[in-house]
Amino acid sequence: MPELPEMETYRQQLSRCIQGKTISGAEVTRPKSLNVEPEAFINAVTGKRVLRLERRAKHLLFHLSSERVLVLHLMLGGWLFYGTDAEKPDRTFQVTLHFQGEQLYFIGLRLGYLHLHSQAEVEDVLHKLGPEPFTLGFAEFQQVLASKRSNLKVALTDQSFLSGIGNCYSDEICFIAGLLPSRTLPSLSEEEQLRLFEAMGSVLREAIQYGGYMADPLFVGDSLTGGFDAKCRVYDREGETCVRCGQPIVFAELSSRKCFYCASCQS
Ligand SMILES: [Zn+2]
Repeated sequence: MPELPEMETYRQQLSRCIQGKTISGAEVTRPKSLNVEPEAFINAVTGKRVLRLERRAKHLLFHLSSERVLVLHLMLGGWLFYGTDAEKPDRTFQVTLHFQGEQLYFIGLRLGYLHLHSQAEVEDVLHKLGPEPFTLGFAEFQQVLASKRSNLKVALTDQSFLSGIGNCYSDEICFIAGLLPSRTLPSLSEEEQLRLFEAMGSVLREAIQYGGYMADPLFVGDSLTGGFDAKCRVYDREGETCVRCGQPIVFAELSSRKCFYCASCQS
């Protein structure tokens, strides 16, 4: 599932493709991906300009010139492609937005959705999200840590605790911090809290720099998206050698979540 770095990569790259452009039409083949009837959706977006794209946690917000907002969550398996009819991937599209000759295709929106909201509704919809990792200083991060007693895996992937981190980056952050994902928050020393804080920042920044870990390109010639996949140290690397100590990476289920870590150099 795309997490903060994947959605931030989409925001940055897609802004260059569609910011300031007018939506010239739309198609909907899966009405369930929307929160309004397809005809109402098409009428609401056609002729509107995309003023700017904003990312909140794992959501991408399309701010339209009508002061309405499209809220995208890709959930599991969703992705985006931007290009011409000739360039589009051989997939089914649940929603397509037209930009005079080029299209933004929404793919794999089974659990994911594209909802149309007023600006006030957006705040309602997103109000349960916890703070964004990059907005916190260490003292604020310590306050957040003090609000929960679960293990690191559960806490880091809880969107009301911190927003934007999921299965992949929770494992990567724990690895860089040298902490087992099964460690509980109250058991962390101040020095370990600081390692966790610094790892969170460095992992997410590096992942954004390398375009996240999900491989499908946004457009033909996109060489950025997915670059972090090769840089993941533990996620989806069961049995591979730990880059720090040489022991095999372990896979385990922890609180019903997939978890990859090094049992030798994380403690
Ligand atoms: Zn190791």
